[in-house]
Amino acid sequence: MRLENKTAIVTGAGSGISEEVAKTYLKEGANCVLVDLKNLDEQFAPLAEKYKNKIAVVRADISKKDDIAHVVETAVNKFNQVDILFNGAGIFDMRSILEESWEVFDRLFTVNVKGTFFLMQAVAQQMVKQGKGGKIINVSSQAGRRGEALVSHYCATKAAVISYTQSAALALASYHINVNAIVPGVIDTPMWDQVDALFARYENRPLGEKKKLVGEAVPLGRMGLPSDFSGAAVFFASSESDYITAQALNVDGGNWMS
Ligand code: NAD
Repeated sequence: MRLENKTAIVTGAGSGISEEVAKTYLKEGANCVLVDLKNLDEQFAPLAEKYKNKIAVVRADISKKDDIAHVVETAVNKFNQVDILFNGAGIFDMRSILEESWEVFDRLFTVNVKGTFFLMQAVAQQMVKQGKGGKIINVSSQAGRRGEALVSHYCATKAAVISYTQSAALALASYHINVNAIVPGVIDTPMWDQVDALFARYENRPLGEKKKLVGEAVPLGRMGLPSDFSGAAVFFASSESDYITAQALNVDGGNWMS
């Protein structure tokens, strides 16, 4: 097991990519603090039974200051330390740039940028206090690599995640805290059902068509699955990536080349 005696905070653990990453971290021996807006008690009850004292479930909004403090406190109170942050919680919305609203801007930036940044900061402060280094993995998007006509705010939030990853990696390098980003392409999760429905509305398509087209356009021939992230998420959390920091790794079937 590659994450034995480590404690990980995983945000957005109730769905999609982060849910799969949380399960993989548990299999690799980590204690996991599972964070989501939703109550995860029932969803993770079978795993809580299997992994006994290795799981803490926290219902929290990562864009709220007090909730962020509560997440870190829970990890420290239950497991004495935080070694890994998988900063996966995020939200999506889209519309034409001519119709983009202040409300959507605030909502997306509050969760995807403010939440991601300040949770990273709170975890980094704890890691510095512990003095043993750590691993922070932020989740960006291929949308953060370039703008899209209908997706301006979301693209900008995910570009910000890459930028904060680089700045934090440089600021925290001397503390042996590695900060990297994973950059998903198009991944078959509940979020993509929402994306598909929005494209159907704004591009006047039947439901399911956009999802089918983007999957076919991936060089490796299909949409990604949450399980396609397990390898990169464990690698960046483990000692195997000790000499890698400030990077943004595409996990996208070849959609983006960099
Ligand atoms: P998802 O919608 O399936 O899961 C996201 C989870 O985050 C949900 O359980 C939700 O309740 C939780 N969440 C949302 N806001 C939160 C908040 N403020 N506090 C705590 N939890 C919150 O999404 P997914 O597809 O698994 O995406 C995970 C990450 O990957 C997101 O950051 C997303 O932007 C990014 N991403 C996804 C894709 C994709 O194609 N699915 C592509 C690129 C990037």
